[in-house]
Amino acid sequence: MGYKSWFEEHAAKHKKIVDKLLSQNYTKEQIVDYFDFDNMVKNENEFCPLYKDNKKCHDMDALNCYLCACPNFRFNDDGLEQIDDKTKYSFCDIDSKDGRAGVYGDKIHQDCSKCTVPHHKSYVLKNFNYDWTKIMKRCSL
Ligand code: SF4
Repeated sequence: MGYKSWFEEHAAKHKKIVDKLLSQNYTKEQIVDYFDFDNMVKNENEFCPLYKDNKKCHDMDALNCYLCACPNFRFNDDGLEQIDDKTKYSFCDIDSKDGRAGVYGDKIHQDCSKCTVPHHKSYVLKNFNYDWTKIMKRCSL
């Protein structure tokens, strides 16, 4: 699956959950809390493929899933840049010290596996919008 189709599918799943919570009069903070990993595994098991194995994408205690993937991620499925014989498809717009450019054969993809930036509740609240696509609007180039 390419980045774009993943984004579209994820946006639809995210919206469905937020709409459900809003219809139950959840506040902004209650919605963010609902997206805590432990609650999501229990109540929204289809949201992330890792949930069925109760597995976190990052090793951190309170992992919040509201801003998966990350507002700082930039991508283009057709490629962004040619570097020697390799094509770069994604990068981190803030050049996080915990991210890196991963080289996979002739492809370069941003590797966020060691970066927890978007998974902290404080970051989610600071960048919050009920509409996930609005927060992620700069991701697709
Ligand atoms: S490295 Fe961190 S801040 Fe950068 S795109 Fe990945 S998760 Fe986001």
